[in-house]
Parts: sequence; structure tokens; C-alpha cells
Amino acid sequence: MTRLITQGRDQRQDAARFCTHCGVVTDDAPQRVCESCGLGVVLHCARDAAPRPGASFLIVTTDLRVTGASAACGEMFGETFELVGSPLVDVLHGDGALPRQVARAAMGSRKVATVWVRTAQHGRPFRGRIVACGDPPAALIVLS
Ligand SMILES: [Zn+2]
Repeated sequence: MTRLITQGRDQRQDAARFCTHCGVVTDDAPQRVCESCGLGVVLHCARDAAPRPGASFLIVTTDLRVTGASAACGEMFGETFELVGSPLVDVLHGDGALPRQVARAAMGSRKVATVWVRTAQHGRPFRGRIVACGDPPAALIVLS
């Protein structure tokens, strides 16, 4: 038990909290729902991996479904609400290693993976940075 508590503290110290909708990053978020926009849920990830405000990013679970998309994804994908609930393979294309790397991050890997992906079969490529986030455990894919 003691070890679990200590790990929790360590995680919190080097973690940043970010909103799944507006992407605002805070050190401390007492509420589950974002205080800035009221629309997103506050998740945490490694501090140096946190998305920049206004970034396009997706939240993907271990079963490779999109469960969250930032407001900025609207410019990249069109309507963001169509992203949520979609299989990742229908949303991002172009890198065969993507499913494995996303699943690894969603299972809590501390490694940061970088992929090149397209939002349409022949669209322009975006750089995707994949890291673990939570809770619940998921992968954060920041697109730039
Ligand atoms: Zn927000």
C-alpha cells in the first residue's frame, strides 16, 4: 500500500493536467470537468508531453477507439463529434505501427512514440506524438 501511495505522488508531481476539449493545461484541477470551457474532461499526462493550448489531439483507448478530440481537431478533420467513438484506423492513416504504439501508450508505457499520419488517405502528413494519459488509461496523440 505504501508503495502505491508514493507512486501516486510521484506521478502527480511530474504530471500536467489538460482539458480534452479546449486543451488548456493546468497544474491543478480540482474538478473533473474543465473550468475554462466547461465542455472537456480533465486528464493528466507527463508534463513535458502535455499538448500546447489550441493543439489538435486525440484520446484513444486500448481498444483503439477515439474517446476524445480537442476542439482544434475541427480544422484538421472537419466535425470533431464524428471522431469520438470511431475506430482509430478510420481516423488516422499511413503508419502501420500506429495501432501497436497507441495500444502501448494506452496501457501506460512511459515511452514517447512519434508517427507520421494522414487524416485522409491522400492528405498531407501530420506528425503525431503518442504518450500515455489518464484517468482512465488512454493514449494521447498530439498532431502537428
Ligand atoms: Zn476546457
